[in-house]
Amino acid sequence: MKPSHIEHIGIAVINLEDAISFYEKVLGLTCYNIEEVPDQKVRTAFFMVGQTKIELLESTDPEGPIGKFIQKKGEGIHHIAFSVEKIEEQLMHASKLGITLIDCKPRKGAEGLDIAFLHPKATSGVLIELCENKTHLTG
Ligand code: ZN
Repeated sequence: MKPSHIEHIGIAVINLEDAISFYEKVLGLTCYNIEEVPDQKVRTAFFMVGQTKIELLESTDPEGPIGKFIQKKGEGIHHIAFSVEKIEEQLMHASKLGITLIDCKPRKGAEGLDIAFLHPKATSGVLIELCENKTHLTG
């Protein structure tokens, strides 16, 4: 699969503004984008650290994936996203290796990325997201 880098780390937070304030005031990072992703029932905030982003995730619905995660585990690291090319092929490859997929086909995530999740049962407990930025190919 050979991911080129960790695209982002997703962190579940209860209050987006409080969490943004920590990353800006304490770590000195700048939030460059806040975006709602209705499909995922979240509001997201992004920070760039080198090539990697921090993606803060605040639930907009207690029944959504982040709402449920926080109810079960509290705030904390939710997923790690690897940047890959040809995401459809990577999903087929993982599936052939017997890895359970949450998404059999990529869908649209924040920032226009094509994303898909592998099931944490197949990855030693870490929710892994694969993502591909197809927009940079066309400029
Ligand atoms: Zn993500």
